[in-house]
Amino acid sequence: MPSMRRDLSLFEGYHSPQVDVEVRLNTNESPLRPSEEYCRELAEAVEKLELNRYPDRTAVDLRNALAAFHHVDPAEVFIANGSNEVISTLLLAYGGPSRRAMTFEPTYAMYAQVAKITSTELIEIDRDSDFGLDMFEVLEAYRDHRPDIVFFCSPNNPTGLDEDPEIIRALARNLDSLIIVDEAYGQFASFDALGLASSHANVVVLKTFSKVWSLAGLRLGYLIGPKEIIGNLWATCLPYHIDSIKQVAGLLALGRLDEMQATIDLIVSGRKQIEAGFDGLGVSYWRSSANFVLFKAPKGKGDDLWKELVDRSVLVRNCSGWPRLSDCLRVTVGTEDENDRFLKALSESLSQLRS
Ligand code: PMP
Repeated sequence: MPSMRRDLSLFEGYHSPQVDVEVRLNTNESPLRPSEEYCRELAEAVEKLELNRYPDRTAVDLRNALAAFHHVDPAEVFIANGSNEVISTLLLAYGGPSRRAMTFEPTYAMYAQVAKITSTELIEIDRDSDFGLDMFEVLEAYRDHRPDIVFFCSPNNPTGLDEDPEIIRALARNLDSLIIVDEAYGQFASFDALGLASSHANVVVLKTFSKVWSLAGLRLGYLIGPKEIIGNLWATCLPYHIDSIKQVAGLLALGRLDEMQATIDLIVSGRKQIEAGFDGLGVSYWRSSANFVLFKAPKGKGDDLWKELVDRSVLVRNCSGWPRLSDCLRVTVGTEDENDRFLKALSESLSQLRS
Protein backbone atom coordinates (compact mmCIF):
# COMPACT_ATOMS: atom_id res chain seq x y z
CA MET A 1 0.00 0.00 0.00
CA PRO A 2 1.30 3.50 -0.73
CA SER A 3 1.79 5.40 2.50
CA MET A 4 0.12 8.74 3.08
CA ARG A 5 2.18 11.77 4.13
CA ARG A 6 3.12 11.01 7.72
CA ASP A 7 1.93 14.35 9.11
CA LEU A 8 -1.55 13.69 7.68
CA SER A 9 -1.94 10.00 8.35
CA LEU A 10 -3.97 10.30 11.57
CA PHE A 11 -5.97 13.16 10.21
CA GLU A 12 -9.76 12.87 10.18
CA GLY A 13 -10.50 15.84 7.96
CA TYR A 14 -13.37 18.26 8.28
CA HIS A 15 -16.88 16.90 8.41
CA SER A 16 -20.25 17.96 9.71
CA PRO A 17 -22.23 14.88 10.75
CA GLN A 18 -25.38 14.50 8.66
CA VAL A 19 -28.39 12.66 10.02
CA ASP A 20 -31.61 12.01 8.15
CA VAL A 21 -34.01 14.44 9.84
CA GLU A 22 -36.94 16.64 8.87
CA VAL A 23 -35.44 19.94 10.07
CA ARG A 24 -31.78 20.48 9.15
CA LEU A 25 -30.31 23.47 10.90
CA ASN A 26 -26.66 22.45 11.17
CA THR A 27 -24.62 23.89 8.29
CA ASN A 28 -25.59 27.57 8.03
CA GLU A 29 -27.08 27.43 4.55
CA SER A 30 -30.00 29.54 3.42
CA PRO A 31 -33.32 27.81 4.21
CA LEU A 32 -34.72 28.92 0.84
CA ARG A 33 -34.09 27.40 -2.55
CA PRO A 34 -33.18 29.83 -5.32
CA SER A 35 -36.32 31.17 -7.04
CA GLU A 36 -38.03 29.26 -9.85
CA GLU A 37 -37.36 32.14 -12.24
CA TYR A 38 -33.65 31.99 -11.46
CA CYS A 39 -33.55 28.23 -12.04
CA ARG A 40 -35.37 28.62 -15.35
CA GLU A 41 -33.03 31.39 -16.47
CA LEU A 42 -30.05 29.24 -15.49
CA ALA A 43 -31.34 26.20 -17.37
CA GLU A 44 -31.77 28.31 -20.50
CA ALA A 45 -28.28 29.77 -20.15
CA VAL A 46 -26.74 26.32 -19.62
CA GLU A 47 -28.34 25.05 -22.84
CA LYS A 48 -26.46 27.72 -24.75
CA LEU A 49 -23.04 26.91 -23.26
CA GLU A 50 -20.38 25.16 -25.31
CA LEU A 51 -19.59 22.52 -22.73
CA ASN A 52 -17.18 20.80 -25.11
CA ARG A 53 -14.87 23.81 -24.59
CA TYR A 54 -12.85 24.67 -21.52
CA PRO A 55 -14.36 27.52 -19.50
CA ASP A 56 -13.08 31.08 -19.56
CA ARG A 57 -10.03 30.56 -17.39
CA THR A 58 -10.31 33.70 -15.27
CA ALA A 59 -14.10 34.05 -15.48
CA VAL A 60 -13.91 37.53 -16.94
CA ASP A 61 -17.67 38.24 -17.11
CA LEU A 62 -18.34 37.05 -13.57
CA ARG A 63 -15.25 38.88 -12.32
CA ASN A 64 -16.39 42.12 -13.97
CA ALA A 65 -19.85 41.73 -12.46
CA LEU A 66 -18.46 41.07 -8.96
CA ALA A 67 -16.11 44.03 -9.32
CA ALA A 68 -19.01 46.29 -10.32
CA PHE A 69 -21.10 44.95 -7.42
CA HIS A 70 -18.38 45.83 -4.89
CA HIS A 71 -17.10 48.97 -6.68
CA VAL A 72 -13.59 47.58 -7.13
CA ASP A 73 -11.34 46.86 -10.11
CA PRO A 74 -11.77 43.41 -11.75
CA ALA A 75 -8.06 42.83 -11.10
CA GLU A 76 -8.94 42.92 -7.39
CA VAL A 77 -11.21 39.85 -7.58
CA PHE A 78 -10.24 36.18 -7.30
CA ILE A 79 -12.91 33.47 -7.71
CA ALA A 80 -12.95 29.80 -6.70
CA ASN A 81 -15.14 26.81 -5.86
CA GLY A 82 -16.53 28.10 -2.59
CA SER A 83 -14.65 30.23 -0.11
CA ASN A 84 -13.04 27.08 1.26
CA GLU A 85 -11.11 26.78 -1.99
CA VAL A 86 -10.14 30.44 -1.74
CA ILE A 87 -8.74 29.72 1.75
CA SER A 88 -6.82 26.77 0.39
CA THR A 89 -5.39 28.81 -2.51
CA LEU A 90 -4.39 31.56 -0.09
CA LEU A 91 -2.47 29.10 2.05
CA LEU A 92 -0.87 27.43 -0.95
CA ALA A 93 0.43 30.82 -2.07
CA TYR A 94 1.17 32.49 1.28
CA GLY A 95 1.47 29.59 3.75
CA GLY A 96 3.43 26.36 3.54
CA PRO A 97 6.51 24.97 5.25
CA SER A 98 8.33 27.51 7.47
CA ARG A 99 5.32 29.86 7.30
CA ARG A 100 2.94 30.66 10.17
CA ALA A 101 -0.79 31.38 10.31
CA MET A 102 -2.56 32.80 13.37
CA THR A 103 -6.19 32.17 14.32
CA PHE A 104 -8.32 33.37 17.23
CA GLU A 105 -10.18 30.44 18.77
CA PRO A 106 -12.88 29.39 18.67
CA THR A 107 -13.28 30.12 15.00
CA TYR A 108 -14.01 28.41 11.68
CA ALA A 109 -12.25 25.03 11.77
CA MET A 110 -11.21 25.06 8.10
CA TYR A 111 -8.39 27.53 8.78
CA ALA A 112 -6.64 24.96 10.98
CA GLN A 113 -7.48 22.17 8.56
CA VAL A 114 -6.01 23.93 5.52
CA ALA A 115 -2.98 25.01 7.56
CA LYS A 116 -2.36 21.38 8.35
CA ILE A 117 -2.74 20.20 4.77
CA THR A 118 -0.38 22.89 3.50
CA SER A 119 2.15 22.31 6.34
CA THR A 120 1.65 25.84 7.58
CA GLU A 121 2.47 26.22 11.26
CA LEU A 122 -0.67 27.22 13.17
CA ILE A 123 -0.64 29.60 16.11
CA GLU A 124 -3.99 29.44 17.92
CA ILE A 125 -4.72 32.33 20.26
CA ASP A 126 -7.67 32.09 22.66
CA ARG A 127 -10.42 34.66 22.50
CA ASP A 128 -11.53 36.09 25.86
CA SER A 129 -14.25 34.49 27.98
CA ASP A 130 -17.01 36.29 25.99
CA PHE A 131 -15.33 35.24 22.71
CA GLY A 132 -14.24 38.81 21.98
CA LEU A 133 -10.69 39.99 21.27
CA ASP A 134 -8.59 42.25 23.43
CA MET A 135 -6.43 44.73 21.48
CA PHE A 136 -3.49 44.49 23.88
CA GLU A 137 -3.44 40.68 23.89
CA VAL A 138 -3.78 40.45 20.11
CA LEU A 139 -0.89 42.85 19.55
CA GLU A 140 1.23 41.00 22.08
CA ALA A 141 0.50 37.63 20.44
CA TYR A 142 1.27 39.14 17.05
CA ARG A 143 4.62 40.51 18.27
CA ASP A 144 5.51 37.19 19.92
CA HIS A 145 4.77 35.03 16.87
CA ARG A 146 5.11 37.31 13.81
CA PRO A 147 2.70 35.25 11.68
CA ASP A 148 2.78 35.43 7.88
CA ILE A 149 -1.02 35.12 7.81
CA VAL A 150 -3.71 36.24 10.28
CA PHE A 151 -7.31 35.01 10.04
CA PHE A 152 -10.25 37.08 11.22
CA CYS A 153 -13.81 35.89 10.75
CA SER A 154 -16.53 38.51 10.88
CA PRO A 155 -19.13 37.59 11.99
CA ASN A 156 -17.22 34.73 13.55
CA ASN A 157 -18.32 31.13 13.08
CA PRO A 158 -19.40 29.60 15.50
CA THR A 159 -19.96 32.51 17.92
CA GLY A 160 -21.86 34.84 15.55
CA LEU A 161 -19.98 37.87 16.91
CA ASP A 162 -18.49 40.66 14.77
CA GLU A 163 -14.75 41.20 14.97
CA ASP A 164 -13.52 44.58 16.21
CA PRO A 165 -12.50 46.61 13.12
CA GLU A 166 -9.95 48.57 15.20
CA ILE A 167 -8.07 45.35 15.96
CA ILE A 168 -8.04 44.34 12.28
CA ARG A 169 -6.83 47.83 11.40
CA ALA A 170 -4.07 47.69 14.01
CA LEU A 171 -2.70 44.43 12.62
CA ALA A 172 -3.08 45.57 9.03
CA ARG A 173 -0.35 48.14 9.68
CA ASN A 174 2.16 45.28 9.71
CA LEU A 175 2.59 45.04 5.99
CA ASP A 176 4.56 41.80 5.96
CA SER A 177 1.56 39.77 7.21
CA LEU A 178 -1.40 38.84 5.05
CA ILE A 179 -4.63 39.75 6.88
CA ILE A 180 -7.58 37.59 5.79
CA VAL A 181 -11.05 38.78 6.81
CA ASP A 182 -13.60 36.03 6.21
CA GLU A 183 -16.99 37.63 5.61
CA ALA A 184 -18.93 34.50 4.69
CA TYR A 185 -21.75 35.95 6.84
CA GLY A 186 -20.82 39.58 6.16
CA GLN A 187 -24.25 40.65 4.87
CA PHE A 188 -25.55 40.59 8.45
CA ALA A 189 -22.62 42.38 10.07
CA SER A 190 -22.34 45.94 11.34
CA PHE A 191 -19.18 46.65 9.31
CA ASP A 192 -17.39 45.26 6.30
CA ALA A 193 -13.66 45.21 5.72
CA LEU A 194 -13.69 46.18 2.04
CA GLY A 195 -12.59 49.70 2.98
CA LEU A 196 -9.56 48.21 4.74
CA ALA A 197 -8.77 46.07 1.69
CA SER A 198 -8.80 49.12 -0.57
CA SER A 199 -6.54 51.14 1.73
CA HIS A 200 -4.03 48.46 2.82
CA ALA A 201 -1.70 46.41 0.63
CA ASN A 202 -2.10 43.29 2.77
CA VAL A 203 -5.84 42.97 3.59
CA VAL A 204 -8.12 40.60 1.67
CA VAL A 205 -11.84 39.97 2.19
CA LEU A 206 -13.51 36.63 1.60
CA LYS A 207 -17.13 36.28 0.38
CA THR A 208 -19.38 33.41 -0.63
CA PHE A 209 -22.55 32.57 -2.55
CA SER A 210 -23.26 29.75 -0.07
CA LYS A 211 -25.30 31.70 2.47
CA VAL A 212 -27.68 34.53 1.61
CA TRP A 213 -27.46 33.85 -2.12
CA SER A 214 -29.02 30.39 -1.48
CA LEU A 215 -26.38 28.71 -3.65
CA ALA A 216 -24.33 26.47 -1.33
CA GLY A 217 -24.74 23.61 -3.83
CA LEU A 218 -23.06 25.67 -6.54
CA ARG A 219 -19.70 26.04 -4.71
CA LEU A 220 -18.84 29.61 -5.52
CA GLY A 221 -16.77 31.98 -3.41
CA TYR A 222 -14.45 34.90 -4.06
CA LEU A 223 -11.86 37.20 -2.60
CA ILE A 224 -11.44 40.96 -2.90
CA GLY A 225 -8.01 42.41 -2.28
CA PRO A 226 -4.99 44.23 -3.66
CA LYS A 227 -4.11 43.41 -7.29
CA GLU A 228 -0.70 41.91 -6.47
CA ILE A 229 -2.18 39.36 -4.05
CA ILE A 230 -5.06 38.54 -6.38
CA GLY A 231 -2.62 38.05 -9.28
CA ASN A 232 -0.61 35.62 -7.17
CA LEU A 233 -3.75 33.58 -6.47
CA TRP A 234 -4.70 33.36 -10.15
CA ALA A 235 -1.15 32.14 -10.79
CA THR A 236 -1.37 29.52 -8.00
CA CYS A 237 -4.78 27.95 -8.72
CA LEU A 238 -5.30 25.11 -11.16
CA PRO A 239 -6.20 26.07 -14.73
CA TYR A 240 -9.93 26.15 -15.58
CA HIS A 241 -10.93 25.61 -11.96
CA ILE A 242 -14.22 27.55 -12.26
CA ASP A 243 -16.52 25.69 -14.64
CA SER A 244 -18.72 27.41 -17.23
CA ILE A 245 -21.98 26.54 -15.48
CA LYS A 246 -20.82 28.09 -12.24
CA GLN A 247 -19.67 31.23 -14.04
CA VAL A 248 -23.04 31.81 -15.65
CA ALA A 249 -24.91 30.84 -12.47
CA GLY A 250 -23.02 33.43 -10.44
CA LEU A 251 -23.58 36.08 -13.06
CA LEU A 252 -27.33 35.45 -13.15
CA ALA A 253 -27.55 35.49 -9.33
CA LEU A 254 -25.94 38.93 -9.25
CA GLY A 255 -28.81 40.14 -11.42
CA ARG A 256 -31.28 39.20 -8.65
CA LEU A 257 -30.20 41.35 -5.75
CA ASP A 258 -33.77 41.85 -4.58
CA GLU A 259 -34.17 38.09 -3.98
CA MET A 260 -30.96 38.03 -1.96
CA GLN A 261 -32.14 41.00 0.09
CA ALA A 262 -35.46 39.26 0.78
CA THR A 263 -33.52 36.24 2.09
CA ILE A 264 -31.53 38.48 4.42
CA ASP A 265 -34.76 40.02 5.77
CA LEU A 266 -36.27 36.58 6.34
CA ILE A 267 -33.17 35.38 8.17
CA VAL A 268 -32.91 38.46 10.37
CA SER A 269 -36.54 38.08 11.46
CA GLY A 270 -36.01 34.32 11.96
CA ARG A 271 -33.02 35.05 14.15
CA LYS A 272 -35.16 37.36 16.30
CA GLN A 273 -37.77 34.59 16.52
CA ILE A 274 -35.12 32.12 17.76
CA GLU A 275 -33.60 34.60 20.21
CA ALA A 276 -37.04 35.42 21.61
CA GLY A 277 -37.65 31.67 21.99
CA PHE A 278 -34.37 31.29 23.89
CA ASP A 279 -35.34 34.20 26.16
CA GLY A 280 -38.69 32.55 26.85
CA LEU A 281 -37.04 29.22 27.70
CA GLY A 282 -34.28 30.80 29.79
CA VAL A 283 -31.59 29.43 27.45
CA SER A 284 -28.36 31.43 27.34
CA TYR A 285 -26.93 32.33 23.94
CA TRP A 286 -24.58 34.75 22.20
CA ARG A 287 -26.27 37.61 20.38
CA SER A 288 -25.50 36.83 16.77
CA SER A 289 -24.77 39.00 13.72
CA ALA A 290 -25.06 35.97 11.41
CA ASN A 291 -27.58 33.38 10.20
CA PHE A 292 -26.94 31.09 13.18
CA VAL A 293 -26.98 31.34 16.96
CA LEU A 294 -24.65 29.66 19.47
CA PHE A 295 -26.46 28.61 22.64
CA LYS A 296 -25.77 26.68 25.81
CA ALA A 297 -27.26 23.43 27.03
CA PRO A 298 -27.63 22.87 30.78
CA LYS A 299 -24.24 22.10 32.34
CA GLY A 300 -22.80 18.77 31.19
CA LYS A 301 -25.80 18.12 28.88
CA GLY A 302 -24.55 19.30 25.47
CA ASP A 303 -24.42 15.85 23.86
CA ASP A 304 -27.69 14.79 25.51
CA LEU A 305 -29.53 17.86 24.30
CA TRP A 306 -28.22 17.33 20.76
CA LYS A 307 -29.51 13.73 20.82
CA GLU A 308 -32.88 14.76 22.22
CA LEU A 309 -33.25 17.24 19.36
CA VAL A 310 -32.29 14.59 16.79
CA ASP A 311 -34.90 12.28 18.34
CA ARG A 312 -37.41 15.02 17.51
CA SER A 313 -36.06 15.17 13.93
CA VAL A 314 -34.17 18.45 14.38
CA LEU A 315 -30.46 18.58 13.57
CA VAL A 316 -28.25 21.37 14.93
CA ARG A 317 -24.45 21.50 15.13
CA ASN A 318 -23.05 19.90 18.25
CA CYS A 319 -20.07 22.06 19.24
CA SER A 320 -19.96 20.78 22.81
CA GLY A 321 -16.86 18.65 22.20
CA TRP A 322 -14.91 21.52 20.62
CA PRO A 323 -12.24 23.34 22.64
CA ARG A 324 -13.73 26.10 24.82
CA LEU A 325 -17.29 25.30 23.72
CA SER A 326 -18.42 22.71 26.25
CA ASP A 327 -22.22 22.39 26.26
CA CYS A 328 -22.55 24.69 23.24
CA LEU A 329 -24.78 23.96 20.26
CA ARG A 330 -25.20 26.08 17.14
CA VAL A 331 -28.51 26.44 15.33
CA THR A 332 -28.84 27.81 11.80
CA VAL A 333 -31.79 30.15 11.26
CA GLY A 334 -34.40 28.37 9.13
CA THR A 335 -37.81 29.28 7.79
CA GLU A 336 -40.40 30.49 10.30
CA ASP A 337 -41.86 27.00 10.43
CA GLU A 338 -38.47 25.33 10.92
CA ASN A 339 -37.59 27.79 13.69
CA ASP A 340 -40.90 26.98 15.40
CA ARG A 341 -40.22 23.27 15.15
CA PHE A 342 -36.74 23.77 16.58
CA LEU A 343 -38.05 25.82 19.52
CA LYS A 344 -40.79 23.31 20.26
CA ALA A 345 -38.29 20.43 20.13
CA LEU A 346 -35.90 22.41 22.33
CA SER A 347 -38.59 23.07 24.93
CA GLU A 348 -39.57 19.39 25.03
CA SER A 349 -35.94 18.26 25.13
CA LEU A 350 -35.10 20.56 28.03
CA SER A 351 -38.11 19.27 29.99
CA GLN A 352 -37.01 15.70 29.24
CA LEU A 353 -33.47 16.40 30.46
CA ARG A 354 -34.77 17.97 33.68
CA SER A 355 -37.05 15.04 34.50
N1 PMP B 1 -16.06 30.75 6.02
C1 PMP B 1 -16.88 30.53 7.04
C2 PMP B 1 -16.73 31.35 8.27
C3 PMP B 1 -17.85 29.53 6.98
O1 PMP B 1 -18.63 29.29 8.03
C4 PMP B 1 -17.97 28.78 5.79
C5 PMP B 1 -19.02 27.71 5.62
N2 PMP B 1 -19.34 26.96 6.68
C6 PMP B 1 -17.09 29.03 4.76
C7 PMP B 1 -16.15 30.04 4.88
C8 PMP B 1 -17.07 28.20 3.52
O2 PMP B 1 -18.08 28.51 2.68
P1 PMP B 1 -18.11 28.02 1.17
O3 PMP B 1 -16.88 27.20 0.92
O4 PMP B 1 -19.36 27.26 1.04
O5 PMP B 1 -18.08 29.29 0.38
